[in-house]
Order: sequence, then structure tokens, then C-alpha cells
Amino acid sequence: ASTWANVEQGPPDAILGITEAYKKDTDPKKINLGVGAYRDDNGKPYVLNAVRKAEQKLLNDKLDKEYLPITGLASFTKEAGKLAFGADFISSNGGNIVISQSISGTGALRIGGSFLGRFYPHAKTIYVPTPTWGNHKAVFSDSGLGVAQYRYFDKNTNGLDFNGMKEDILNAPKNSIILLHACAHNPTGVDPTPAQWDDLSELLKERSHFAFFDMAYQGFASGDIDKDAYAVRKFASDGHQVILCQSFAKNMGLYGERAGAFSLITSNPKEKAAVESQIKILIRPMYSNPPVNGARIASLVLSDPALRSEWLSEVKDMANRIITMREKLQNHLVNDFQSKKSWNHITDQIGMFCFTGLAPDQVTIAPQNTFKAERLTRDFHVYLTKDGRISMAGVTSHNVKYLAEAIHEVTK
Ligand code: PMP
Repeated sequence: ASTWANVEQGPPDAILGITEAYKKDTDPKKINLGVGAYRDDNGKPYVLNAVRKAEQKLLNDKLDKEYLPITGLASFTKEAGKLAFGADFISSNGGNIVISQSISGTGALRIGGSFLGRFYPHAKTIYVPTPTWGNHKAVFSDSGLGVAQYRYFDKNTNGLDFNGMKEDILNAPKNSIILLHACAHNPTGVDPTPAQWDDLSELLKERSHFAFFDMAYQGFASGDIDKDAYAVRKFASDGHQVILCQSFAKNMGLYGERAGAFSLITSNPKEKAAVESQIKILIRPMYSNPPVNGARIASLVLSDPALRSEWLSEVKDMANRIITMREKLQNHLVNDFQSKKSWNHITDQIGMFCFTGLAPDQVTIAPQNTFKAERLTRDFHVYLTKDGRISMAGVTSHNVKYLAEAIHEVTK
């Protein structure tokens, strides 16, 4: 018998499978709202001008292709740290912060998970919000952590279940690890307010919980990198020894370059050196050292004043295009199609995704026994995940009215 005869067929990736189905559809009205990558108003992938210019400069510099150190490009990690925590915090606490380059956000999560799996001195269970990004559970359980959940999304309001969230965090055993989406929560687009973050910081302190931040969308939520860093900076300044995972996939459009950073705050330089040595020991057998190109691009964009300001305005433009599409989608539903439902959550939510509320609901569509989200795909060629999440990046001024009509048809 073959050595692999006992390997069972696994399920396809829930999100990447949607794109495959979309590609096969020949209807000209088809819309792909499954994938979490930014598109311009013509539905095309977008490479930022600041990135193009940085690439040109790097090309002109004729750099070599030597290996980076295990923890990556130092100029990049320094800039990434300043971007997230703020330059002031880094200048006064930088001596205590371990920062390593990572294989984008996912790789940073994996470093964090594995580090905690090896060294966290309390129960090795991480609490993630319900719902959360589909990959979190797999990353953390493959890292050797247990995964538990806390309440987050309120189906009745399509907003935050703040009381449920607080109650579950309060009731978790002391010293629990709590995963927090720093901004633009995926998949719901629902974030705590600054005042609620303040409460959460206090609550985690009270319970001696450990805050683990996933920040994949800094700048993408509001268009303002500082505003989107509120939670991380608040927790850091309140003295939490946070882990932070950063991705430059969305805010710099560097998806396939895999540029990211992992950081961890320690309490003194000796501790920092010890933790850093262990991070290196952990990374070395995983992938030895990280890719150089994306880190060079991001480092240059962040440190060159002209490129940085061009980047900041492009981040703002991307965020604003998404915010405008939210307004148009809501407006078409309410005013053009006279939907009697409340669609306020479309504009209340932020970031790349909108949790439409089109979740499986067999009661209302019992005759066909089909889910609303599935009807959107079957009858209207609109592709989205079954939980009703749509990527606002796939909505354009050309397809927004058609999308509103489709949503109205399956919800009236
Ligand atoms: N965390 C969240 C919440 C995300 O949405 C994503 C991207 N979909 C990531 C992490 C990681 O993405 P990447 O590895 O491409 O940086």
C-alpha cells in the first residue's frame, strides 16, 4: 500500500475557496466580496505610489541579497515599533522591547503563540473573541496553546456585546491570555470605543491577564495611523507587557511581500536580552530568517519623509473609499430600495469588513432551505463567506447599487 493511503482529504480553505468559485462564474455582474485585499474603484488590486517609488529607489541602489539576521532588518523593526507604539514610547521604553521581523501578521501570531506555548508561566490558553479571524484558532492550537472564547459580537444590534465581553474576561481565570484585535476587528468591523478600551485595560490589569494584540489594519480603520493605534498605546502606557503582531499587508498593500513585526514588552534590558535570545531560538528552526524585500520597502516608506507623507495620504484614501462605499450601500438600501431593516451597522462598523447580519437564518427562508448569504451567491453572483461577512474593498461605485438591490431582495 502507498505510504500516504491513510491521509484523508481535508476541507478547502473557507475564504480561498470563494475566490475559486468566483473565478468560474461567467456572469458579468459577479462580485467577489470574499477576499480581504484592497481593490480600487475599478475592482483592481492597487499598488501604492509610495511603494512603487521605494521599489524604484531600492532597484537603483543595486542592493545585495544576503541573509537578514534572524530577527530581520533592524531599520524596519525600529520603524515598525515607532509606528505602533509611538516614537515617544519607543524612545523611553525601547530598551525593554523585543521586536523581531516576522512573516507578515500570521507569522508574528505564530511567533507569539509558540513563545507563550514555551514560556508563559500560567495556563496556556488564549481567549479569542466570538467570532474572530478564521485562522486564529489554527495558529494558536498549532502553536501548542489551548483556545477559548469570549463574547464579542451582538447579533441583535450588529454591534459590540461589551457587557458580555467584560463578563467573560472577568470570569476567565487570573493570568489568562486575551487576544485583542487592535482595530478594525475581522470579521465584524466592530471595535470598542476609546473609553471602552480604557475599561478593558483596567479590567485586564485587575485580573492580571496578558494582552495579546493582533494589529493587521493600522490606518485602515479610520485612515489615521495614530487613531487606530489607540488601544495598543493605551495598554502599553498603562504598563501591560503586551505582545503585538503587526502586518503591513493591508496598510502598505504589501500582501505577498510578507512584511510584519512581532513585539513583546519586557521590564528591563536583561529580560529583553533573554527573551530575544529565545525568540531567535524559536525562529531559527522555523524559517531561519525572514524575507528581505518587503522589509526594505516598508522601512524606506516609513523613514523617508516624502514617501511617508505620500503613504499616509494613500492610507487615508483607501480608508475613505471604503467609508464612502459603506455610506452608498446603506443609502441605496434605505432610500432607493426602501428597505425597512436597519442598516446603521454598515456605517457604524469600520475597516475592511462589514458583518452584514446575513448570517445563516433558516427560519426566514425555510421554503428554499437556503441561507441568505448563499442566495446572494446563487441568485445574484455575489460571493461572500457564509457568516455574512463582506469585504468592503470589493464594493465599487459601479457595483454598489446592484449589491444593495441583491441584499434587499434576500432580506425583504
Ligand atoms: N490578523 C487578522 C485579524 C487578519 O485579518 C489578517 C489578514 N487577513 C492577519 C492577521 C494576517 O495577515 P498577513 O499574514 O497577511 O499579514
